[in-house]
Amino acid sequence: MKNKVKKQISGFSEIEKEIEILRKHALDRSVEKGQVSQIIHRLHPRKLNLAVSEIHPETGSAKTFRLVSQDHYLPPFQAGQYINLFLDVNGILTSRPYSISSSPCQTAYYDITVRRIKNGFFSNYLLDEIQPGDVFQSTSPAGYFHHNPLFHGKDLVFIAGGSGITPFMSMVREATDKKLDQQIHLIYGSQQDDDIIFQKELSERESSHANLTVTHVITEPSSSFSGYKGFITAELIQTVLAGTNPADKMFYLCGPEAMYGFVLSQLEMLGIPKRRIRVEIFGPPEDITAHPGWPETIQKEDWFQIRLSQGRTFEAKAGETLMNSLERNGITLETSCRSGVCSLCRTKLVSGKVFHPAGVQIRKSDRRYGYIHPCTAYPLEDLELMI
Ligand SMILES: Cc1cc2nc3c(=O)[nH]c(=O)nc-3n(C[C@H](O)[C@H](O)[C@H](O)COP(=O)(O)OP(=O)(O)OC[C@H]3O[C@@H](n4cnc5c(N)ncnc54)[C@H](O)[C@@H]3O)c2cc1C
Repeated sequence: MKNKVKKQISGFSEIEKEIEILRKHALDRSVEKGQVSQIIHRLHPRKLNLAVSEIHPETGSAKTFRLVSQDHYLPPFQAGQYINLFLDVNGILTSRPYSISSSPCQTAYYDITVRRIKNGFFSNYLLDEIQPGDVFQSTSPAGYFHHNPLFHGKDLVFIAGGSGITPFMSMVREATDKKLDQQIHLIYGSQQDDDIIFQKELSERESSHANLTVTHVITEPSSSFSGYKGFITAELIQTVLAGTNPADKMFYLCGPEAMYGFVLSQLEMLGIPKRRIRVEIFGPPEDITAHPGWPETIQKEDWFQIRLSQGRTFEAKAGETLMNSLERNGITLETSCRSGVCSLCRTKLVSGKVFHPAGVQIRKSDRRYGYIHPCTAYPLEDLELMI
């Protein structure tokens, strides 16, 4: 009966014949079973086991940590990508993403370069407590903040603020080591002259490669500093790119949230279309209540009750991401970017209201069916979460 029905399907007998011929003459693919998944697992393992092999001070507030594999293999990455490090910080299992600052041509290790921030929970622990020989886990390299030769062209402007230099350092190292056909203008904003990370190497690479120019901009310069002072304004960008048309270039912007809003408005003033601007924001906003759209009636010290589907409840502060509050209460969600992009932490919000800052990439269907990204969601009411 089954066969009778199959034979009525148009094309069925031709496919049946083809299968017969393949069985007789083609390679037996069943012996390769599992090989594809093995390769995928090797290139994109879910977790990496890493050890710190060296720690190198860069400036008074930043250090580079060289990470080697404990599994004898590190997956390849694209310059600009990050890994998310997991650590138990004073009894709280948490994670933070860090861009790989070493070149992808270097396959023996990943370097990450971490800058201290005031009251930073994870960064300060890394800078003060982690020693060579310490081990931890991370995700595989991830992220979309990398050059795509098909769509981004060869004329590139990198605008970095503070620790936001790290993905660019990887890109500059790759482009100069491989002598890639790219013109790179790096405009790098730091607070003080002695805060400039990778200053010596950038200057050496600039003097030995005609396709790289580096411009430093300092907001609180010393009296001996003779370069550009203040913020990265439209006027400054125009001066640095003098004689060329900024609208023909691809702009990459990386740094803290505060810098992103300002520089984006400057690029808009120069008439740079959004599709020519690529952005990576480092870390959550310093004060979410100052963010456009935050309700005036709610203060960052307001507390709300969070109820989980298993019935457990705990309190969370309005001015802090839900992800932080969950982790403080021993609940660890799957996460990679911690910046609202990767979607791994998506969670069903059963009731209540949260604030997601503009720019967080939540799928239309997630918005429609009430899913939130706890890494960038702030409670505005008592909440019930399906966890
Ligand atoms: C893709 C990506 C790549 C990155 N790469 C780098 C890199 O190469 N180098 C680097 O140094 N950093 C990088 N970062 C930033 C990094 O992930 C961390 O955000 C940074 O190190 C600060 O973490 P922290 O735990 O020390 O700070 P946090 O403690 O998380 O503090 C971050 C901010 O949140 C606020 N905050 C924290 N806790 C609270 C609270 N309880 N209540 C209210 N506000 C609070 C703080 O005021 C602070 O301004 C990257 C970020 C991303 C998304």
